[in-house]
Amino acid sequence: EEPIPTDYEIAQSTDMEPIWELVEPWGLGLDDLQYFGEHKAKVKHHAIDRLREQAEEKEGNLVLVTGMTPTPKGEGKTVTTVGLGQTLNHLGEDAMIAIREPSLGPVFGVKGGAAGGGRSQVLPMEDINLHFTGDLHALTSAHNLIAAMLDARLSQGNDLDIDVNDVAWKRSLDMNDRALRKTVVGLGGSSGGTPREDGFKLTAASELMAVLCLASDLGDLKERVGRIIVAYNTDGEAITVDDIEATGPVTMLLRDALKPNIVQTVEGTPAFVHGGPFANIAHGTNSLIADKAAFGMGDYLVTEAGFGSDLGAEKFMNIVCRLGDMTPNAVVLVSSVRALQYHGLEQWPVDFDEIDESGVDAVEAGFENLDRHVSNLQKFGVPVVVAVNRFPDDSDEEVQAVLDHCQDDLGVRAAESEVFEHGSEGGEDLGEHVISAVDESDEEEFSYLYDEEAPIQEKIETVATEIYGAEGVKFTGGALDDIERMEELGFDDVPVCMSKTFHSFSDDASKKGAPEGWELEISEVYPSAGAGFIVALTADALTMPGLPARPAAADMDIDEDGEITGLF
Ligand code: ADP
Ligand code: MG
Repeated sequence: EEPIPTDYEIAQSTDMEPIWELVEPWGLGLDDLQYFGEHKAKVKHHAIDRLREQAEEKEGNLVLVTGMTPTPKGEGKTVTTVGLGQTLNHLGEDAMIAIREPSLGPVFGVKGGAAGGGRSQVLPMEDINLHFTGDLHALTSAHNLIAAMLDARLSQGNDLDIDVNDVAWKRSLDMNDRALRKTVVGLGGSSGGTPREDGFKLTAASELMAVLCLASDLGDLKERVGRIIVAYNTDGEAITVDDIEATGPVTMLLRDALKPNIVQTVEGTPAFVHGGPFANIAHGTNSLIADKAAFGMGDYLVTEAGFGSDLGAEKFMNIVCRLGDMTPNAVVLVSSVRALQYHGLEQWPVDFDEIDESGVDAVEAGFENLDRHVSNLQKFGVPVVVAVNRFPDDSDEEVQAVLDHCQDDLGVRAAESEVFEHGSEGGEDLGEHVISAVDESDEEEFSYLYDEEAPIQEKIETVATEIYGAEGVKFTGGALDDIERMEELGFDDVPVCMSKTFHSFSDDASKKGAPEGWELEISEVYPSAGAGFIVALTADALTMPGLPARPAAADMDIDEDGEITGLF
């Protein structure tokens, strides 16, 4: 047998079309694009406005791709999103794709890039995974401009009476660097700023990233930026980006980053790759501006939400669809034999070699995790299709066991997906199920899980019990005081963004399957006033991940001819 080509080799051997030629049949002209070489472009604001108007006249179908509780390696949501978009086109529909743009943190860490893989990836994958069109750079700069202006204000007279112990704005960097999680700044003597505790977030975890992904246009972006709370004064009143006079320059730095990036897949399907907010302290989906533009171009939009459905899909429904006024027509729940076996094994941390040796029994032992994701998603009133993302080592028996369980025990649509190995030809069955689910969907049936006007505690309890399977919620630390403060600030009638580990339905990463009989612990609640939601933190809220002992970066290289290896 021939060796399976790497993602990079597939990418290199694919002939790409010039991006302006590729998108022309989708309604974008030469003057609508801002070019970054031949294969990457941003869509200009005037074209976005036009596409948005076109979208109003059509009935766009929204397909959300989410997943069961993943292993640390990822179960293939991006691969399935890209593959399904290609497949729908192959089946004669006009489908667009919208995904997040990669952060260098995971690229160099454990998981690798986020451009899909095999015959279902977006191109040019090396550009997309590395610097792409500079959005992450722009966000990092804009984030740190706020930090610099805040510290300057603090140390030069502090006319706003900023409480040095109540600064909410950290610094940011697009690199997994745990040594920067907690830092002390201002150690340079009397001219070196005000000494205080500080820290860094990954740029993807910056509120600016969330704001960029929810803004409808430049004016809306500016308003949201201005509202961001950066600190509190000694009376406990909020100090915003507007108060430190940073709204203008920050918005200016983001003017290009707000324009969605368009590229192509291996099979020439147009894909927006834009924005990449964290799925724990933020909502975890690509920009709304890309979604809206996509609806003006195609009849279907396939998009992805981060981590498992308990995080990504819940937030997509309750936050993104609410703020963006969208209704999903079908949800694809990505599962894998590997993830099912992972949930079936009674060990922590899990030895992946042992997973490789387990069989159908271990797959079945993991069903309870899949089942809870399915029944959770059904609560939103959107048809669910389970995709079994087939990996090279999966046996027919293992895959069939999942399909049988979904069809016979759960009565839910299910299909094997081989889009990684075969592109759209490997997704026909999945694509047909998705089309029939969309045809059957009734937008009237769609509902949010909670009313945004409900009390903060109640909103948190609803997600904890209905989605995570918790028995209740325990508010510890200053969480109840935080909630009181938010009610006083008048910032309580917005959706909640739950921050929780993605390794488990529960707040304990080692609890696999579908844990029962536990309480969710909320230790802190804070406003993301620019984004327009409240963040509720569980104990494990990492906004600056670290690298593992041997990061993916250690296997990456480039030779004198510019050939890259080890990027995946
Ligand atoms: P997610 O978006 O769910 O985190 P990805 O789609 O990024 O997951 O996939 C995670 C990793 O696994 C990527 O490196 C991807 O190329 C690889 N992968 C996904 N599906 C398959 C498959 N069917 N066969 C082999 N590798 C796969
Ligand atoms: Mg992904």
